[in-house]
Amino acid sequence: MGQTEVLIIGCGIAGATAALRLARNRERRITIVTRAPDPHESNTNYAQGGIIGRAPDDSAELLLADILAAGAGVSSPQASRILAEEGPPLLHEILEEQAGVGFDRNESGEMRWGHEAAHSRRRILHVGDSTGRAITAGLTAALERFPNIKIETNATAVDLITFRHHSRNPLDNYQPIACHGSYLFDREGKAVHRYLADITVLATGGLGRIYRNTTNPPGARGDGLAMAHRAGARIINAEYVQFHPTALVAPGAEGLLISEAVRGEGGILLTPQGKPFMADYSPQWKDLAPRDVVARAIHHEMETHGYSFVLLDIASRLPAETIRQRFPYIYSECLKVGIDVTHEPVPVVPAAHYFCGGVLVDEWGHSSIRNLYAVGEISCTGVHGANRLASTSLLEGLVWGHRAAQHIERTLTSSSNWERPRFEDVPPWDESGLTAEPDPALIQGDMQTIQNIMWHYVGLVRTGDRLSRAIRELRHLWNEIETFYRTTKLSDGLIGLRNAVEAALIIAQAAQHNRQSRGCHYRQDSGSFEGDRLI
Ligand SMILES: Cc1cc2nc3c(=O)[nH]c(=O)nc-3n(C[C@H](O)[C@H](O)[C@H](O)COP(=O)(O)OP(=O)(O)OC[C@H]3O[C@@H](n4cnc5c(N)ncnc54)[C@H](O)[C@@H]3O)c2cc1C
Repeated sequence: MGQTEVLIIGCGIAGATAALRLARNRERRITIVTRAPDPHESNTNYAQGGIIGRAPDDSAELLLADILAAGAGVSSPQASRILAEEGPPLLHEILEEQAGVGFDRNESGEMRWGHEAAHSRRRILHVGDSTGRAITAGLTAALERFPNIKIETNATAVDLITFRHHSRNPLDNYQPIACHGSYLFDREGKAVHRYLADITVLATGGLGRIYRNTTNPPGARGDGLAMAHRAGARIINAEYVQFHPTALVAPGAEGLLISEAVRGEGGILLTPQGKPFMADYSPQWKDLAPRDVVARAIHHEMETHGYSFVLLDIASRLPAETIRQRFPYIYSECLKVGIDVTHEPVPVVPAAHYFCGGVLVDEWGHSSIRNLYAVGEISCTGVHGANRLASTSLLEGLVWGHRAAQHIERTLTSSSNWERPRFEDVPPWDESGLTAEPDPALIQGDMQTIQNIMWHYVGLVRTGDRLSRAIRELRHLWNEIETFYRTTKLSDGLIGLRNAVEAALIIAQAAQHNRQSRGCHYRQDSGSFEGDRLI
């Protein structure tokens, strides 16, 4: 059992930023939990390309225009303006000053501004090609300096505690749904505890792992989305799953992201025969077209010509030493699997990368459930619309983590008679009758089935028939997994499997419902495409 004022589930950039902002009030008690054994482990840790700053020749208006253009008409102008205006100053205040992140500078001490697809300016700040690692290290060290922040690792949130669902008082049925914390699975002690909180912040990140090919690490399986859905939160734009065009294809390093910054620095895509092809698909942007266009162009080349990959060439575009300096992580990871990016092109395919939809939140990160906020990739602020502009996600986590914390602080300060949840109102986790140990073969097998269904039927190119098939198969699996869940002792893997199938169904149903191709949701059978981006 545990109790806190603010429970933050997730320790990536969004959760950590919220905690840091809240902890400025030394009286405030904050608990940040992560299912990972190490607080550094998160999608944030793997971010390569960088985060948007504001270069001298740039402005909030120019960034706003680029976000809206990439979002294919679905990005919220209000939310995008907040990001464009507040993001770069916050980056300076929190990441540089508070977390001590040292972004790359040239010999004269000026920022090295990187370039990425669909940006009209060089505006990306980076730390080599391991920007996420530097940000995570800085934020985690900053969290540890606050005595009023408690970090709990190895703690997997199972479900949100919501009244009316978990209340012992039947009259709570008449109240709007409110969140009072979470049931947490202690991975070491193998027990579920109630963790009560005045305010709960979901910051659980993305869900790339529900697809067969993905750039995401194993923890990105849609836990927060599924929990919020079960609790009754409003979820939107779930059909917009962004596929990154260039993930490495090589045994032992599947899914390794080859950052867009590689194309930003001049890298070009080639057929396996060495012919450039992006000008055929996007005469204006060529290799730096928005991600959805590049990913579909690669998919189209592969499907039409039967290629199992295309090539990304940086070796003939930059001197070897420059490649090693600018992309040390990509260089060394590729070398481990026998590919020298300074001498040869890299075989790549598209892979699931980012969830543009999520738990609907307002400009302060508040969800449709009382006392529940969502920040970072799990949330949908509206910024990313139908297709995220490169390097906006870290910035969004920073801005909304900060905003949610400001709003929570105001709410807690202004409510003198806050109704604290009490343990006697919330039933303990009931494990009676659960005798079977979770079978890892079943968990792995079902997970792979979900990943294959999502890849083939709810992937880059969708049709009504494929989506119907996916929904039928996922519903069947959902039933199987729910039975398994109700009869088996809990494990982190089982929690993830249950969430993965729920998240997969949410996406497949949203994709089925929306017959209009837009951004990264492409329906081959819709016959029309909003914008000028049909390939
Ligand atoms: C390879 C790669 C490269 C990328 N490069 C860039 C880039 O250059 N620029 C950019 O802007 N974006 C990039 N992105 C996207 C960006 O990294 C993510 O969108 C962002 O980091 C998400 O941050 P977050 O705080 O929302 O979630 P995350 O950083 O994913 O953190 C999620 C947290 O929630 C925890 N968690 C999850 N489920 C549970 C549960 N059930 N219980 C308890 N804890 C849980 C996790 O352990 C983790 O601590 C990249 C992503 C990847 C995968």
